[in-house]
Amino acid sequence: MPAGLAGLTAAITAADNGALVTILEKEKSVGGNSAKATSGMNGCGTKAQDAAGVHDTESLFFADTISSGHGKSDPALVRTLAAQSKSAVEFICKHGVDLAAITLCGGHSVARTHHEAPRADGKPTPVGWDIIAALKKVVESRPSDFVLRTGARVLELLRSPSTGGPLGAAAVIGVKIQVSTANPAGGAATTVTEHEEELLSDAVILCTGGFGNDHTKDSLLAEFAPHLSCLPTTNGPFAQGEGVKIARSAGAYLRGMQEVQVHPTGFVDPADVMNRTKFLGRCRQYSATPKPPLTPCVQDLRLFEVWVVFCSTTMGSGS
Ligand SMILES: Cc1cc2nc3c(=O)[nH]c(=O)nc-3n(C[C@H](O)[C@H](O)[C@H](O)COP(=O)(O)OP(=O)(O)OC[C@H]3O[C@@H](n4cnc5c(N)ncnc54)[C@H](O)[C@@H]3O)c2cc1C
Repeated sequence: MPAGLAGLTAAITAADNGALVTILEKEKSVGGNSAKATSGMNGCGTKAQDAAGVHDTESLFFADTISSGHGKSDPALVRTLAAQSKSAVEFICKHGVDLAAITLCGGHSVARTHHEAPRADGKPTPVGWDIIAALKKVVESRPSDFVLRTGARVLELLRSPSTGGPLGAAAVIGVKIQVSTANPAGGAATTVTEHEEELLSDAVILCTGGFGNDHTKDSLLAEFAPHLSCLPTTNGPFAQGEGVKIARSAGAYLRGMQEVQVHPTGFVDPADVMNRTKFLGRCRQYSATPKPPLTPCVQDLRLFEVWVVFCSTTMGSGS
């Protein structure tokens, strides 16, 4: 499993239940799009809501989410999301990130987006990065439970020669990976060598994130949302839907692939206007404690671009 929030959460949960876990991350460092999140994490019935006097319930969270989905959400998945949101927030808090502040974000009837309190100078905290850093620390502090390998790209699922899996499918017995190793000679003389390995395991969890930056030859964006593939994105360059393609070639059924979120606020760097990767501009937000609405200044408005694509994973247990 890779090292975004879904992967690190699955890894820690599996290790807490006795598994020895290998985390395979294709990039040099961990985090994925999870490290870019700035608004926070949705949860209902939490301590932070109680402290702020916000009454929230699973059924209200469920109703808001179904309403935002305009009939396209799977009610069973939304029910799970709402029912487990409190324990998900508690999981992050338990590992050292104090999600004590809440904000009312779009589509919610009450304030339920959890993040850290702003810094002393009033600047917002980088909640996604802080969560990833905390979970990485957990992994690094338990070397007998985890092996974390960066520069390790999963290429395919290894299958059993027999067909004893569900529906007569061949069971997954491991992964084939491509390992990149930098040979640091310094400067331009640094070279990267690559080799392939096969790793066997009792279970494989694919958490390779979304495909909002997939401009490869077999682009999922071009296949499922071609009208959006010309847009810039706030996704990192790693978001190419590799796990989706790997699972599909092993026979997985894909659904909801057309539902790519388009966000109206991406900052354009005046020095690099054509760069397809943008930074997310903050939406107007309302705090649980009423504050004056934010007003973008003229200079900010000049820097706003209308369309930014970002999408969440459609595979397995996204955050
Ligand atoms: C700018 C931005 C802001 C956002 N803000 C919020 C927010 O405030 N709140 C919120 O709830 N959501 C937010 N989102 C959405 C949220 O970040 C994603 O839904 C979430 O991070 C998905 O987590 P993940 O672990 O599935 O994927 P990721 O965090 O993207 O992790 C996937 C990992 O898999 C690795 N990988 C990919 N392919 C392979 C391979 N073949 N082999 C090995 N490793 C591989 C990647 O390098 C990456 O590290 C935001 C998204 C963006 C882009």
